[in-house]
Amino acid sequence: GQCVMVCPTGALGERDETDTVLDFLFDSEIVTVFQFAPAVRVGFGEEFGLPPGTNVEGRIIGALRRLGADIVLDTNFAADVVVMEESAELLGRLAGKRRPTFTSCCPAWINFAERHYPDLLPMLSSTKSPQQCLGKIAKTYLPERMGIDPARIRVISIMPCTAKKDERVRPQLAENGVSEIDVVLTTREFARLLKRQGIDLRSQEPSVFDNPYMSAYSGAGAIFGTTGGVMEAAVRTMYQIANGRELPQIELSQLRGFDGARTATIEVGGTIGTVKVAMCHGLRPTRDLCEAVRAGTADFDFIEIMACPGGCVDGGGNLRSKKAYLPYALKRRESLFAIDRSTAVRQSHNNPQVQALYRDFLERPYSEKAHHLLHTYYTDRSVEMSLTVKQVWEDITMST
Ligand code: SF4
Repeated sequence: GQCVMVCPTGALGERDETDTVLDFLFDSEIVTVFQFAPAVRVGFGEEFGLPPGTNVEGRIIGALRRLGADIVLDTNFAADVVVMEESAELLGRLAGKRRPTFTSCCPAWINFAERHYPDLLPMLSSTKSPQQCLGKIAKTYLPERMGIDPARIRVISIMPCTAKKDERVRPQLAENGVSEIDVVLTTREFARLLKRQGIDLRSQEPSVFDNPYMSAYSGAGAIFGTTGGVMEAAVRTMYQIANGRELPQIELSQLRGFDGARTATIEVGGTIGTVKVAMCHGLRPTRDLCEAVRAGTADFDFIEIMACPGGCVDGGGNLRSKKAYLPYALKRRESLFAIDRSTAVRQSHNNPQVQALYRDFLERPYSEKAHHLLHTYYTDRSVEMSLTVKQVWEDITMST
């Protein structure tokens, strides 16, 4: 049966989580739905001794099928959905002169804001993270399309991130006691699970996604795993909304630096005009920027925050070298950019499965239904504070 013990920090033994996944896999009543994050496919190979940055997407899919997974979906698909929702939300906020808007896909950042900057919470995008959006759609739209009883579905995420375990149990992300995500495995735990089952990624035959509803992705969804990627993905879609045609220069090199804090002014044109953006990764740049926003001295429309230096490509659930993270993170990041270049579709709004989702189910981005399913709220948790800022940050971003 399902492990009912819930540890909000994910600090409890990782063994229990892999056991829960095996329980699901062996239970014939349960339909197991797996997803893995954008960054996982370029970091996971290292767990099996493959060179940093090797793209093992196909081998992960193959390994999941060998484990007995019923349905393999891609978090990248949900990243594309997040772009649709966040762009619509951002445009609405800009029209209402409400600025800045912060991204909301990194749960460590959400935790940090709730504890240290509760006054900034109204500026956070209400769009759920890709992990949570995928879980919600996999328990509503997917069973409707596939004729499955939603009560039989269990969604298992493979994430580069320990904070995703914490996100999974946020009370506002459950409806009538049903969680959107049932288990989160870190990349490290997933490697342990495969090894326990005798699956070696090095000799694993690659496979491909075959779900017709929730596994296609655009290049924009793929780059969510690196700092600046969410911003770049959103700009590609906002440009199309503003101008009715695609951004001619798809790759936005001005967003692609690696400094802890970067800013850019982007001429989106059309109905939107100029958008001032900032991207931060890591504690110090984030804190400095939050202080500036609080003081009213920051002049931005859209701010992307990723708690981990480098973004999810160096998240706390990966193999990680504290001293030498940069070369690894950069190789993984390069691989994400390579995936983006190789995709036939490079904008979230052109992902045919995303278009079908809106046509057949959600109606349009930020519709009432989309708002109900894919948006959330945040709570002031500053009263929980007894630790220093640095301790909390390490608690929520570091591996256990
Ligand atoms: Fe998780 Fe780090 Fe990515 Fe945030 S930046 S979602 S903490 S891996």
